[in-house]
Amino acid sequence: MTVEQETRLLRSVPNRLFIGGEWVHASSGRTFDVVDPSTGASLTTIADASASDGLLALDAAVAARDAWAATAPRARGEILRGAFDLLQERAEDFALLMTLEMGKPLAEARGEVAYGGEFLRWFGEEAVRIGGHYGPSPEGTGRMIVTRLPVGPSLLITPWNFPLAMATRKIAPALAAGCTVVVKPAELTPLTTLYLARLFEEVGLPAGVLNVVTTSSAAEVSAPIIADRRLRKLSFTGSTAVGIRLLEQASANVLRTSMELGGNAPFLVFEDADLDLAVEGAMVAKFRNIGQACTAANRFIVHESLAEEFAARVTARVQELRVGRGTEDGVGIGPLINEAAVAKAVRLVDDAVSRGATVLTGGSPIAGSGTFFEPTVVIGVRPGSDILREEIFGPVLSIVTFTDEADAVAKANDTEYGLVSYAYTRDLARGQRLIESLQTGMLGLNVGVVSNAAAPFGGVKQSGIGREGGAEGIEEYLETKYVLTPNPFG
Ligand code: NAD
Repeated sequence: MTVEQETRLLRSVPNRLFIGGEWVHASSGRTFDVVDPSTGASLTTIADASASDGLLALDAAVAARDAWAATAPRARGEILRGAFDLLQERAEDFALLMTLEMGKPLAEARGEVAYGGEFLRWFGEEAVRIGGHYGPSPEGTGRMIVTRLPVGPSLLITPWNFPLAMATRKIAPALAAGCTVVVKPAELTPLTTLYLARLFEEVGLPAGVLNVVTTSSAAEVSAPIIADRRLRKLSFTGSTAVGIRLLEQASANVLRTSMELGGNAPFLVFEDADLDLAVEGAMVAKFRNIGQACTAANRFIVHESLAEEFAARVTARVQELRVGRGTEDGVGIGPLINEAAVAKAVRLVDDAVSRGATVLTGGSPIAGSGTFFEPTVVIGVRPGSDILREEIFGPVLSIVTFTDEADAVAKANDTEYGLVSYAYTRDLARGQRLIESLQTGMLGLNVGVVSNAAAPFGGVKQSGIGREGGAEGIEEYLETKYVLTPNPFG
């Protein structure tokens, strides 16, 4: 990747707010920098919205609401399909943009373009499957009609770790259902969403259906939108702490909410596991996205008879990982998103070691420019260590042991989170028991990645409310309406 390619791409990304089909400056005239985490240098400068800009975006979404809801489902689906097709043409640009603003290796960014794009295709197809039903009341005196209508203007707030997929996973079902939206991307990675809005503009999405506000003051911009009676839905992906605050705000307006929050995934390796498969799965479940995924395996819970062998094998693999800027060939681990993320990894490893854990490889930040942390394996982590309780959100693989299935399940469930778990076993009956005993919304049974646009993604407990993707994803943007009519035969 050449510097010229990077410069040309960054120049083609809009640097203003997208409101009512127009690219506009922030009303205050303020801007903020978007930084490359692998160098610490500014990539570009973009509009910094204030509360009044956010409300203008909501005005635009409200103005476009009725016409979009009345647009034929097939036509809505065709626009999503058009966006999918154009995304394929621009795949390399989107991948490079995500690598530049977020830091992930280019190969993984390409994977995210494929994954994120699938939501456009999937929900383009789902747009024409919004059903209902019709039938007699039990008494026979009436006819009952149940139909589905768009919820209405929706605020979509996304995180920085998957800049494209977290946006399309919300935008596509909302648009398919007939809702208009205001998107507020993470301030650390707003460029991908701006570039996506330009793509939607090119495929003919009517003005006001999709609006984007970028801001360095998320709370000030989102709070007045959430409090506005015209907003009908809030969909948020991010940390549990912020999600709880937004749920409080949403309750005052009785908003429909979808919350995709934090995780603390257990990765169980039973004594009957296929160890080759488990090691492969561990590498993706832990190190994909530099460990910065809500689905990242956070606690490796390994049967005591194989813990040492498992640790030795993953350590050998981890030592082969190349750390560097995501645009360089062969890099498997890019930078963490910022200094705070590095400080957190340091704190969690130090705490585990101070309580008796052993670092098998890595364990430290890497000096120089950019926010890099060594890929790390820690074994012998003691109960009570912070690393077992908090989301690591970095390339640190931490191992504890268990004695039997009951112990494994108890340890796996010993968290307030419940997004995803992973389990490796060759025993079918055990696998079936785990489906019911592990308290998570998703389970990877002998696989290390579960994400798929065709599947309902989401968590239980403090990991969230609602599902994104699958047949369930569009439900989050539909209201059910029931109608009773008399029996037409009297
Ligand atoms: P975050 O909660 O800090 O921010 C998420 C979004 O909320 C950003 O757009 C941010 O600007 C905005 N925000 C922050 N404070 C706000 C406030 N007070 N009011 C309104 N908006 C506010 O999370 P993050 O650091 O961007 O993302 C990492 C977190 O997201 C992790 O906890 C991760 O597990 C979670 N996540 C969950 C899923 C999932 O599907 N469950 C997917 C990806 C990430």
